[in-house]
Amino acid sequence: MNARCAALAASLPSGAQAALLSSAPNIRYVSGYTGEGIALVAQNLRAIVTDFRYTEQAQRQAPGFEVFEIASGERHEAVAYRLLQAENIRTLAVEEDVLTVANYRELQKAMPDVSLVSLQDAPQRLRWIKDADELDMLARANKLTSDCFEHMCSFIREGMTEREIALEIDFWMMRRGSEGVSFETIVASGENGSLCHAIPSDRKVRSGDLITMDFGAVVGGYHADLTRTVALGAVSPECARMYDTVLRAQLAALEAIRPGVVCSEVDAIARRIIDGAGYEGRFGHSLGHSTGLEIHENPGFSRRCQEPVAPGMVITVEPGIYVPGVGGVRIEDSVAVTQDGVRILTPASKELITL
Ligand code: ZN
Ligand code: ZN
Repeated sequence: MNARCAALAASLPSGAQAALLSSAPNIRYVSGYTGEGIALVAQNLRAIVTDFRYTEQAQRQAPGFEVFEIASGERHEAVAYRLLQAENIRTLAVEEDVLTVANYRELQKAMPDVSLVSLQDAPQRLRWIKDADELDMLARANKLTSDCFEHMCSFIREGMTEREIALEIDFWMMRRGSEGVSFETIVASGENGSLCHAIPSDRKVRSGDLITMDFGAVVGGYHADLTRTVALGAVSPECARMYDTVLRAQLAALEAIRPGVVCSEVDAIARRIIDGAGYEGRFGHSLGHSTGLEIHENPGFSRRCQEPVAPGMVITVEPGIYVPGVGGVRIEDSVAVTQDGVRILTPASKELITL
């Protein structure tokens, strides 16, 4: 954590002497602390300001930080101000995209002679590149997720509802050590498959359905993400063609990922294959996003993202085709970018599995 604090202190926007972190993932990233409160980081300052409920937890989780407990009725901002004054800090970078207008006004009121500037995405940019510990957590979370998919292939039977399938996924992963679920598990069968973010329903799966399952385990706070689409019995030639197209797009995109490639180019490779097969307009989301302490992080494989891919990034590759009235297919892997390509963290089979 010390290296992360030093890196953050070195990457503050010009003029800023300290960072005030309010978002849980950024606080966790620099300190290890997972409770409520705020953190201050500067060249010579590593402080967490919290309340009685979390003091001991903060001391245990963030040994590199000094922990300050607010007195009853006192505000976090007042304690932070005293710490800044002691260090003669006059320019403070804050998380503009996280603070509410009310938070911001409170801060300004508590520290009238401190100028507040935007931290921009300085902590997030550090988080783009995962270190060895983070890669280990992400590999474990994604392996557990892949294992769960293997289990689901023998679990699913005709007549089960999407909800029953989703519950089995969640319980199976949590029984084996997942700290929760990366996001609300998606199970979409038959015609529901055309909804990219379908909520599992009481629809019973039946022969001829494609079933899309999108889910992830959480290990050490790190989020896995995997999607597979399976067939229940024989599916229509149209569904098989959709599957084949998505798989070709997914494999071509994986093949193209290496350090230096611009994110939008990877998105374009998958999109060209899907559009070229006659599904233009049916792949209405980005090809992928980074994952880490949050399920959706930057950079991502989208049409807008001009960032180059770099070793240590963990990104998803998840093309899909969604046709209302017919159904949908999505195939998603989480991959770690290496020096010369990718390491796939979700080894579950991608051939169309017929249950
Ligand atoms: Zn997913
Ligand atoms: Zn995803």
